[in-house]
Amino acid sequence: MKDPRDLDELVEGFKLTRKIMHAPALAKWILKDKFTEHVRTDDEIREVLRNRVDTVYHPTGTCKMGTDSMAVVDPQLRVHGLEGLRIVDASAMPSLIGGNTNGPVMMMAEKAVDLIRGVSRVPALEQAEHNARARQEHLTQALVPQPV
Ligand SMILES: Cc1cc2nc3c(=O)[nH]c(=O)nc-3n(C[C@H](O)[C@H](O)[C@H](O)COP(=O)(O)OP(=O)(O)OC[C@H]3O[C@@H](n4cnc5c(N)ncnc54)[C@H](O)[C@@H]3O)c2cc1C
Repeated sequence: MKDPRDLDELVEGFKLTRKIMHAPALAKWILKDKFTEHVRTDDEIREVLRNRVDTVYHPTGTCKMGTDSMAVVDPQLRVHGLEGLRIVDASAMPSLIGGNTNGPVMMMAEKAVDLIRGVSRVPALEQAEHNARARQEHLTQALVPQPV
C-alpha cells in the first residue's frame, strides 16, 4: 500500500466489485453489507481498504530445494553445509506450484519420512500392478475346486 497506484487500482476494483454485486442477478442474494454499507467516497474506500485488505499468499520456496548456488536444501531435503538438519515444508519447494499448497506439503512430509528412514517406496504404478496381480491370484484360487 506504499505505492498510491496500488491503492488506486484497489479502489477501482472495489467499485467494480460493488457494481457487479448490485446487478439485479446478484443483488437479491445480498442480505446485508456488513462492512462497507456506508462507504461512499474514494477516501472512505481507501480507508476501508487500508484497514481490511489482507493477502492470501501461499509463500513457498524461501529455502528452495536444489543443487544450484541459491538452493538451501539438497534433493533429500538436507540443509547444505549442515549436519543432521532437514527442512520439510512449503519453503523447500523449488518454485511456486500451480495449485494449492497444503496437499503437496503433506506429500513432502510423507516422502521425507521415507528419506529419513532410508525406505525406497515401490512406485505407485508398480504397486497398483502388484495389487491387481495379487487380487487376480486370489480370485483364481477361489475358483479352483477344493477337495472334499
Ligand atoms: C489464509 C490462507 C488460506 C489458505 N488456504 C489454503 C487452502 O485452501 N488450501 C491449501 O492447500 N492451502 C491453503 N493455504 C496454504 C497452506 O495452509 C500452507 O501452504 C501450508 O500450511 C504450508 O505448510 P508449512 O508446513 O510449509 O507451513 P505452516 O503450516 O505455516 O507451518 C509452519 C510451522 O512452523 C512454526 N514455526 C515458524 N517459525 C518457527 C520457529 N522459529 N521455531 C519453531 N516453529 C516455528 C509455525 O508456528 C508453524 O506451526 C492457505 C494459507 C493461508 C495463509
